Amino acid sequence: MKVVITNPAAQESDKRTQAPNNPTALCFAFDNTYARELDGFYVSWKAAQVARPRLVKFNRELAEELGLDADALDSERGARIFAGNEIPEGAAPLAQAYAGHQFGGFVPQLGDGRVLLLGEVADRSGQRRDIQLKGSGPTPFSRAGDGRAALGPVLREYLIGEAMHALGIPTTRALAAVLTGEPVFRQTALPGAVLTRVAASHIRVGTFQFFAARGEQAKVQRLADYVIDRHYPELKEQANPYLGLLERACDKLAALVAGWMHVGFIHGVMNTDNMAISGETIDYGPCAFMDHYDPATVFSSIDTHGRYAYANQPKIAHWNLARFAEALLALLDADRNRAVARASDVVNNFPQLYERHWLNGMRAKLGLLTKEEADLNLATEFLTAMAGNKVDHTLAFRYLANAALGDEEPLRALFSDPSAYDLWSQYWRARLAREATAPLERARAMRRANPAFIPRNHRVEEALSAAVERDDYAPFDTLLNILAHPFDDQPEFAAFAEPAPDGQGCYRTFCGT
Ligand code: AMP
Ligand code: MG
Repeated sequence: MKVVITNPAAQESDKRTQAPNNPTALCFAFDNTYARELDGFYVSWKAAQVARPRLVKFNRELAEELGLDADALDSERGARIFAGNEIPEGAAPLAQAYAGHQFGGFVPQLGDGRVLLLGEVADRSGQRRDIQLKGSGPTPFSRAGDGRAALGPVLREYLIGEAMHALGIPTTRALAAVLTGEPVFRQTALPGAVLTRVAASHIRVGTFQFFAARGEQAKVQRLADYVIDRHYPELKEQANPYLGLLERACDKLAALVAGWMHVGFIHGVMNTDNMAISGETIDYGPCAFMDHYDPATVFSSIDTHGRYAYANQPKIAHWNLARFAEALLALLDADRNRAVARASDVVNNFPQLYERHWLNGMRAKLGLLTKEEADLNLATEFLTAMAGNKVDHTLAFRYLANAALGDEEPLRALFSDPSAYDLWSQYWRARLAREATAPLERARAMRRANPAFIPRNHRVEEALSAAVERDDYAPFDTLLNILAHPFDDQPEFAAFAEPAPDGQGCYRTFCGT
């Protein structure tokens, strides 16, 4: 399919934003650079009308951060807007084109098959943010899909994105979830829903690949210029801003994946179309958090070979960045061989970058403020001691703060063979002894680096089934509130810090379609 170039909706909306003669109607101060500057990179499109929009979740805190009129949006009108039934003033809805490597195989055309970018707003800190509807009906990129989303996966993306944000991990966020009042058909009929998602941008490695694969170099360059303007404007001063862009992407993704590893997050479908150039976690489908530490953990039912297993995530990010570098090659140097050499230098540095980010985070988790050469070993050895001992990853790190204060029993007791912990902890205590930090201050810092609460799989499932099967959002709200403060003890919710009881069997996730 050829991407259509015309965009009358954007021009219309420009006129409208200049003349807001109905101020109560203006909920969003849209300023749509993607629509305006990247003609040919998308298809202007309208959302499907749905039967009975009902707002089931609205993120007031995020609405306020975005400078939106939260009261105006937390309403029936808000439900219509977030369902796609009403196009808000200034919006220029569009489906973005992108390609991607899915499980290693290149698909030259994917694109927004069930998503529409409504537009961009500047948040309270002046940062540009995309506002997007997910599940808003078929687009020219839908292929065999129906363009819809079911309530369960919509709420899952809402909850896990918000949890990641509270954990301090860059992520897209959820502004709203609406029920459409229409069924979607998967294995069975399920309630249909639309998620409103907010992102620094939705530009992916796959967005570059779409144009690079067609040999449309001028467009690759326009996209790179756009990304530099939007995300990395300081690069414009550099001799080769495109090389700078590749470096930035490497650094952002290294930091991102290190953050995932620190909390036991498994994305599950790290295809290049699900890798945002901004460095945010995007596209929560079959993702889940690991309970007991096992580097081979895979939750996704379609990841039969474990390509996206927990321990593979840094390697896959590296691989994806090599694909990004390939898409940028023509911009890096006029001479192909030199371009390859320059790209390789940058991409080959990824493992070191990643290790640096990972180790910095691990030092904080282990209570270390200074740096010693052997810290890498100390950190890996803790994980090695956990592996094979059925140790809950989150609890082990959380209990370390108490262990540092001399209360080691709860942590020891997590190990099926506590001698594995005893052996390691000798080295750890000797290492702590070389730090000047006061013990209480250290323990406090450790509790800020090691969450008590992650979205436990069984809790997520409980919350989603209450909402989907019984229209009961109380468990969802409880869980969402707990996960908004993952580093606080919240003793009244201690049970939510625990992994699923043994015997619940292996957790399986499915792609969020
Ligand atoms: P994902 O695996 O969700 O990241 O999506 C991969 C591709 O499939 C993207 O192009 C999506 O837009 C498309 N897609 C996923 N689900 C649907 C659906 N229900 N209808 C249409 N397209 C879809
Ligand atoms: Mg995707």
